[in-house]
Amino acid sequence: MDSIIHFIWHDLIWHNDKFLGVAWSVWKVVGWLGNAIFFSRFFVQWYATEKKKQVVIPQAFWWLSLIGSITLLCYGLFYLHDSVVIFAYAFTWIPYIRSLMIHRQHKAARITCAGCGQKNPPQSNFCPNCGGKLAK
Ligand SMILES: [Zn+2]
Repeated sequence: MDSIIHFIWHDLIWHNDKFLGVAWSVWKVVGWLGNAIFFSRFFVQWYATEKKKQVVIPQAFWWLSLIGSITLLCYGLFYLHDSVVIFAYAFTWIPYIRSLMIHRQHKAARITCAGCGQKNPPQSNFCPNCGGKLAK
């Protein structure tokens, strides 16, 4: 049993000053953090879609995309100095910021129902919660 634990710890987990086969540094942590943030957006989108039972892209998806891609851009620029990684993340912030702006505009244009106080999409004529006519 001790030899199995020794094998797992010393040969698989921590081997030749590498943790899980990776030589860690501050920039490696930044890179993996960027990866984790960027990848987590898929779970956020999936969860929102399952919850509404229709395909939706929540605002958090765009924030995670923006923060993750900027983190990975910094990793590419300041650590890797790799043109492929730099180019992959150099311009992705543009649609992310534009999507966040559209989310914000859409949220600001919602119509509050005078009858029940529910906020409704800008194109709504009637409140789906109480059936009252919405004033534009
Ligand atoms: Zn209402």
